[in-house]
Amino acid sequence: MAATVDSPETRIYLDHGATSWPKPPGVIEAVANGLTVLAANPGRGAYRFALDTSRAIHSARRDVATFLGVADTHDLSFQPGCTQAMNLVLLGLLVPGDRVVACSMEHNAVARPLNALAARGVEVVVVDADEAGVVDADEVEAVVAAGRTRAVVCQHAGNVTGAIQPIPDLGDIAHANGALLLVDGAQAGGHLPVDLGRLGADAWACSGHKGLLGPQGVGVLYLAPTCEPAELVSGGTGGGSSEDPLQPLARPERYEAGTPNTPGILGLGASVRFLSEHAEELRSHEAVLVRQLHEGILDLDGFSVLGPSLGAPRVPIVSVVHDRISADRLAFALDRRYGVAARAGLHCAPWAHRTLGTVDAGALRFGLGYGNTPDDVGTVLNALRELVGELT
Ligand code: PMP
Repeated sequence: MAATVDSPETRIYLDHGATSWPKPPGVIEAVANGLTVLAANPGRGAYRFALDTSRAIHSARRDVATFLGVADTHDLSFQPGCTQAMNLVLLGLLVPGDRVVACSMEHNAVARPLNALAARGVEVVVVDADEAGVVDADEVEAVVAAGRTRAVVCQHAGNVTGAIQPIPDLGDIAHANGALLLVDGAQAGGHLPVDLGRLGADAWACSGHKGLLGPQGVGVLYLAPTCEPAELVSGGTGGGSSEDPLQPLARPERYEAGTPNTPGILGLGASVRFLSEHAEELRSHEAVLVRQLHEGILDLDGFSVLGPSLGAPRVPIVSVVHDRISADRLAFALDRRYGVAARAGLHCAPWAHRTLGTVDAGALRFGLGYGNTPDDVGTVLNALRELVGELT
């Protein structure tokens, strides 16, 4: 699929794990619409301008819910992002004395609130993933059953390895032990088929701007009826002001205090409508590119690829380390000399890098996605070959 927008600095964008770019057709127009035609404050006034905006938000919520297999739109709230959503779930649910079991690959959006909760008296038990970055369901089961566990928290897919976690199994394990399963879906939404009605997650959060291809500043949080965290923020919801001194408990209003990000939500509605038609095509396209990149890197001198082995399931993230050249140096040269945007470092996931043994130097991450082509991958492989020749 060809990129529709170009920037003078970046010819080849390979940081889709951080955010997707360019956005698919219709997204920019929908965002602009949220600032022009559907720009009143939704859910507040009863004049037509406001009602039209409310209806547009309702349509976006319905389209996102349909795409993710959420039967009741009340269970889906719009959030500023996955970070905010995971903070809401963790901080709104867990109290001192609770026990939570987490996977060692978690991003800081989960690890930091867990660390904060641990300091307040929540018992946080971390289960190490294997060298592919995948947590073993049997190990999780043993740890969950070893105490009174309130929740299991796990990423759906890894932002360092692209590895896919056994979420349905973890759901069964959590539920058999009276616990909830809370899932960070930031790297899964759009890249994997997600049916939240069947997945087994009691909470599932996702950024809108990564695989869902929407704008930054918006994300989604699904909460099954089994999961009712306290709200993190209270404030205006557009109704109930006379009778409710506290935040109303009705969903999704409980979790959406304040004026919503209308342009972002409408942009996300448009990107999800695009994905509803094209997701499968995009996934196969990305899988071909991932294989081409993974195979090509294995042919180069000194590189290893983190995470699942060649051909094993993964979302379109390929992180690499070289045995003599630092990830920083490679990323810098790729950008300045070849116009390739890729991210070096710890990717906000020190737990994951510690698990993989790469916490000291980090890795170079290629996040493939919408707009990338086999030629892009060929250019990157040639560039890496040249750099290895020069820098070693
Ligand atoms: N979890 C994972 C696995 C991620 O990759 C990211 C984004 N890097 C987040 C959470 C946080 O998402 P956001 O920055 O959109 O809030």
